Amino acid sequence: MKFFSLNKEAADVSFKEAVIKGIAPDKGLYFPREIKPLSASFFENIEDLTDHEIAFKAIEQFVSESIPENKLKEIINSVLDFPFPVIELENNVATLELFHGPTMAFKDVGARFMAHCLEYFSEDHSSEVTVLVATSGDTGGAVANGFLGVKGVKVVILYPGGKVSDIQERQLTTLGQNITALEVNGNFDDCQNMVKTAFLDSELKSEMQLTSANSINVARWLPQMFYFLFTYKKLKNKGRSIVFSVPSGNFGNICAGMIAQKLGLPVAHFIASTNVNDTVPQYMLTQEYSPKISKATISNAMDVGDPSNFIRIRHLFENDFENLSKNISSYSFTDKETREALLKIYNDYSYVADPHGAVGYLGLKKYQKTNSDIYGVFLETAHPVKFLDVVEETIGKKIDLPEKIAKMMTKKKNKIQISTYEELKKYLLAT
Ligand SMILES: *Cc1c(COP(=O)(O)O)cnc(C)c1O
Repeated sequence: MKFFSLNKEAADVSFKEAVIKGIAPDKGLYFPREIKPLSASFFENIEDLTDHEIAFKAIEQFVSESIPENKLKEIINSVLDFPFPVIELENNVATLELFHGPTMAFKDVGARFMAHCLEYFSEDHSSEVTVLVATSGDTGGAVANGFLGVKGVKVVILYPGGKVSDIQERQLTTLGQNITALEVNGNFDDCQNMVKTAFLDSELKSEMQLTSANSINVARWLPQMFYFLFTYKKLKNKGRSIVFSVPSGNFGNICAGMIAQKLGLPVAHFIASTNVNDTVPQYMLTQEYSPKISKATISNAMDVGDPSNFIRIRHLFENDFENLSKNISSYSFTDKETREALLKIYNDYSYVADPHGAVGYLGLKKYQKTNSDIYGVFLETAHPVKFLDVVEETIGKKIDLPEKIAKMMTKKKNKIQISTYEELKKYLLAT
């Protein structure tokens, strides 16, 4: 299976090359040449398969040219070593908890998968790969954790100073070893732009092999389709049509869900729920895609003004707006609405959500107003403890720190402050 660039000006590449390059030379995102549906019997008998078997079947066609079957199974076993519970809150509303991994946000699966792939690919390389990644909150922690100690890989993380939570910052800055955190004087878009500039800088490229670990990277992005398949396995016996409400920032997670749908997964509809960074909800209203400067919110991992994966979604629907709008609805919510939802979820179900999950809940409820017969799953993309201040203040209750977080709180933060691209480049060239 080859991957092509969505800008269509670059050669097709293998999975391995797509992972190592991150982005195509024509600046396009890589996308699979074809997506072969899984057999009907796979979905009919999905409850007889383990999560590892489901994951293997789902991703095999995309990576088999570059990773042998045994190695792929080994990678899947070590990536998926925690549960993905689906908790029913009421008759037709459930939450899918994606925060049981080491950094307590859903990005652990993609980050670990990518780290294992790069480690495998670097076995026959003498040269080092530098992973350069911009984070609005959770990516950095997941990438730092997934890549910690991986041989042949250096990781440089850019995050917007003062715009990530204390716990998120500690997850990036306290690990050391092959992980460096750069605190950028700016917002997430500034970080993302610096990373994009670096990938196009021919002087840098001649000095080092740079790759991204944002959901631009196919190894980060594709494994996220597992969540949707695992959930279907759990809910299939209800015999109901399922919709997923996905709290969205760069739209990688929801786009991976749509790949699962292409593989044959029965999904009635997707809801892309956002905070006030509403580029996609606006697009769904006006058919005009106009990226905006991102605004800081209490669901900071979704503070994205120009979602990088939306182009993949548009491609999946052949840039046909009508087709797209049949499959996806998109709504945006303010911080005030998000806090009200956090409180409502707590009062009605005694369930503590995080601000991202609360945005997902709001999107689902809005959709169900006109589609009341449908079974809805909203994704809880992070553990509430990652947004301690907001959550405790809103529900008026203390949350216990899980042990893995408590340990981290005593470690010293190590970071380098930068303001400009020139400073980033100087740092990269000096290392
Ligand atoms: C990254 C992240 C999101 C957004 O996911 P995308 O794939 O970028 O749309 C939502 N919630 C949390 C907690 C995240 O860390």
